[in-house]
Amino acid sequence: MRILVVEDDPVLGEAIEFALKISNYAVDRVGTGESADQVLKRHPFDLVILDLGLPTVDGFEVLRRLRARLSVTPVLVLSARDAPDDKARVLDLGADDYMAKPFSVNEFLARVRALLRRSRYSLPSQMLGENVSYDTVTRTLQVRGKTLPLSPREVSVFEVLLQHFGRVVSKEQLLERLCGFDDGVTFNAIEVYVHRLRKKLENSGVTVRTFHGRGYQLDHGDAS
Ligand code: CA
Repeated sequence: MRILVVEDDPVLGEAIEFALKISNYAVDRVGTGESADQVLKRHPFDLVILDLGLPTVDGFEVLRRLRARLSVTPVLVLSARDAPDDKARVLDLGADDYMAKPFSVNEFLARVRALLRRSRYSLPSQMLGENVSYDTVTRTLQVRGKTLPLSPREVSVFEVLLQHFGRVVSKEQLLERLCGFDDGVTFNAIEVYVHRLRKKLENSGVTVRTFHGRGYQLDHGDAS
């Protein structure tokens, strides 16, 4: 899960980034509306945390432009004051949620989880098959009733594949969705995570198939 944080206050921006990173999300942070706009045009994100009060191009405008490009990426707006008019305006502009500063980190993270859940993988667990379920709240994989520990990177790879269940995801897509700009994950590393996931899913009726030259697909069946 890759999240963009748009916040010009460096202290708050850093705190938000830290809270998200220890929750195992890949995070990119920018401090101006212009850079947010540029980054959002070029990279896929699962969620945008958007401050309203930004220098030059403000949060309202970033949101307006994002929706004008027909992007459905969920947006959680942060506002410095609890202004009812701001709230109505951003919701009308296409924001998915709104929090007034200051806010509790726990509530913030819960809202992040709710937005990601709602928008991305509302796949009911039974769709993964008789023997496999994935809990999108605790981010744990159960195979034949046994909880299998996944590393944060394995969680990220699995969640991207899960979102595209039954469809091929290219390595490039995986990299884009997994990493912030500075994370330095390579194609080889992706292969390793996929290999580990496949091991964990062995004989479960669900597997990660390799499509040579195209990518990977989470699917029913046995490894091929
Ligand atoms: Ca601000």
